[in-house]
Amino acid sequence: MAKNKLAWIDDDLNALKKAGLFKTIRTIQSDVAGRIKVDGKSVLNFCSNNYLGFANNNQLEKAAKSAIDKYGVGPTAVRTIAGTMDIHLRLEEKLKEFKKVEDVILLQGGFVANLAVIPCLVGEGDLIFSDELNHASIIDGCRLSKATIIRYAHGDEKDLEEKIKQNKTTKKKLIVTDGVFSMDGDITPLDRLAPIAEKYGCMLMVDDAHGEGVLGKGGRGVVDHFKLHGKVDVEVGTLSKAFGVVGGYIAGKKKIVELLRQKARIFLFSSANTPADVAACLKAVDIMQKRGDILKKKLWDNADYFRNKMQKLGFDVGHSQTPIVPVMLGDAKLAGDFSKKLFEKGVFAVAVGYPTVPMGKARIRVMNSATHTKKDLDTAISAFAAVGKNLEVIK
Ligand code: PMP
Repeated sequence: MAKNKLAWIDDDLNALKKAGLFKTIRTIQSDVAGRIKVDGKSVLNFCSNNYLGFANNNQLEKAAKSAIDKYGVGPTAVRTIAGTMDIHLRLEEKLKEFKKVEDVILLQGGFVANLAVIPCLVGEGDLIFSDELNHASIIDGCRLSKATIIRYAHGDEKDLEEKIKQNKTTKKKLIVTDGVFSMDGDITPLDRLAPIAEKYGCMLMVDDAHGEGVLGKGGRGVVDHFKLHGKVDVEVGTLSKAFGVVGGYIAGKKKIVELLRQKARIFLFSSANTPADVAACLKAVDIMQKRGDILKKKLWDNADYFRNKMQKLGFDVGHSQTPIVPVMLGDAKLAGDFSKKLFEKGVFAVAVGYPTVPMGKARIRVMNSATHTKKDLDTAISAFAAVGKNLEVIK
């Protein structure tokens, strides 16, 4: 009899377990806030990208409910085929204003936004210069495009320039980077990348998933942070983090967005965002426009407090410059044990290992939020200190 054709899956899954890389997903039984109920236990939440606390914001909830009353629950089709609801257009207008760009196209998520845009910009024979620590969705978008991918050293504009010089071409060139690196919390040197893009005629694209709500005036993101409006061709946004809902978008030059409306396969072949999501996002942008700086200040105060205290305790927090604070542990099993012990002490902070981060660079990724109180932070820091000493990570 032939060998079980799916036996290789057991081998794959067992290998993951052996390496400490098998993920078990905890269950949340409450709304997402600073303190949540997970697996039956009340814990402090340091996992969500809920930077400003919008995930359970009352105004967003109300907006979503009234959108359901007016528009129902689903769009039922692709916008180019069935027509677009006015609410989707309104959100695009609102985001355009917020991001100070020529145009915006709404998509179903940040991941698919990267998959949508990169193959529309470059194709076979073209060149992509991609930061080596870029998010998986950028990597997949690059692969999907069939362009030649040249990785430059993380955040290193000199290496980028060198690689551009070494790869002379008359074809199209794209530089692509995360704005804030999602696993390290450092900021891309966009101010040094933009002149290189200009000098060598490269298109410049930034994924602002972790910059929105966090950087720039009122949380407008990394382009605003560096005052580079008009110098970045494409910004990829997500509505699933600081905006607290779900969805994604591309912001940028009018003709790029027009091209996407005509050609982006995710726009052409996948149904639109739900009315409830869109309405909640409209409210989220509205609040950010009015109160973004106040909320942002609380977020940054919390993040700076946490990062400083952890450094004083002797933890390695890598190159974090933002509310994302990695607690570097190296070994995936150690990171897993660390996370479990934190959970026992009432702190939910997940371990991340390969392939989310490079092999041997496992860590606890701490997501700070405006929703935490100083007391929450002190409780978490004490838990980290106790577990760190117990596992001999710190003295
Ligand atoms: N880009 C980056 C940098 C991200 O961190 C993420 C989320 N992990 C995404 C894109 C995907 O966004 P979404 O969850 O909206 O698909």
